[in-house]
Amino acid sequence: MRSFVRETRLTPEGFVYPMFVCPGEGVRKEVRSMPGVCNLSVDEAVKEAREVKSLGIPSVILFGLPESKDEMATGAWASDGIVQQATRAIKKDVPGLMLMGDVCLCEYMSHGHCGIVRKSAGTQSLGAAAAAPPAVAAEYEIVNDATLEILAKTAVSQARAGMDIIAPSDMMDGRVAAIRKALDENGFVNIPILSYAAKFASAFYGPFREAADSAPQFGDRRSYQMDGANLREALHEIELDLAEGADMVMVKPAMPYLDVIHAARQRFDVPLAAYQVSGEYAMIMAAAQNNWVDKDRVMLESLQSIQRAGAGIILTYFAKDAARLLG
Ligand SMILES: [Zn+2]
Repeated sequence: MRSFVRETRLTPEGFVYPMFVCPGEGVRKEVRSMPGVCNLSVDEAVKEAREVKSLGIPSVILFGLPESKDEMATGAWASDGIVQQATRAIKKDVPGLMLMGDVCLCEYMSHGHCGIVRKSAGTQSLGAAAAAPPAVAAEYEIVNDATLEILAKTAVSQARAGMDIIAPSDMMDGRVAAIRKALDENGFVNIPILSYAAKFASAFYGPFREAADSAPQFGDRRSYQMDGANLREALHEIELDLAEGADMVMVKPAMPYLDVIHAARQRFDVPLAAYQVSGEYAMIMAAAQNNWVDKDRVMLESLQSIQRAGAGIILTYFAKDAARLLG
C-alpha cells in the first residue's frame, strides 16, 4: 500500500552522471574531496560511460581538464580538445548514451574565470560598485560580449564532435541566444540547449574546483553568478534564458535551493534539471565514511527531495550508486 500511493518514484531515467576527462592513457585519478569520483583519460572515460549506460542511466555530462590553459580558452573549442576527443570516443563505443557538454571557459583559462578578463578602465559606476561586492577583483573585469563568441565556438565544436545536448554554465549575459544562433548557422538546429539558468554563487562548488582544476586565481565569481538570497531573480534569469531559446533549464546547486526548483516547476513548463553539486556529494560521503549517517538512505533521500521539489532531471555524482540500489 505504501508504495502504491507513493507520489514520486525515483528512477535512474532522469539521472545525468558528471565525468571529468583528462589527458593521458589509463588515467583514473580519484578527486581527494570526492571519494569515488575520478579524473579519467579518454580510454577510461569510455569504460566509465559503458558502465553508466549498463546501469540504466541515460546521460553523462562531460567536463574537460585540458593539457594546457591560456587566456583565450583554446582547449575549450579546439577540434582536438579533450572534451571533443572524449565525445567522439564515447559516441563510437557507447552508442545510445546521451552526451551533454558543459560549455564554460573556466577550466581552460589560465586565470580560472568563466570569461575573458581584462584590466578595468577604473570608471565603475558608483551605484553598482557601492551595492555589489567587489567584482572579479577591483582592477579586473569580465568582458561579456567577446566571451560570447568563444562560448558559441565551443558549442559548435562540441556539436561537431557529436554532443547531443549543449549545456552552457558560464552565466554570461546573452549566451543562450549566441549559442543558439551559432548552432543553427552551422546546421545543428536539432541540438537542444540545457542552460544553467539559475546558477548561484555557492560555497558548495569547492570540491568541483579541485576536480576540474578551475578555481579562480584572483577574485571570485560573484559578478556573474547569482546571489543565494534571491528567488525572484532566479526565476527572472530562467525566463530570460527561455526567451533566448533554452529548451531545458537548470537550478544549481540543488539541496540548498529546493525552493527555487519548486518555484521554477510551478512557473515554467519546460524540462527542469537540478545539479546536486560536488559539495553536496562531499558532505554526504564524508559523514557516511565516519559512519555518522547511513550513506544509501541519505543519498536516496537527498535525490528524492530534489525530485519532489520538481526536478525531472538530476545531475548527480551519486547516479551510479543510486541506480544500483534502485535496480
Ligand atoms: Zn565556469
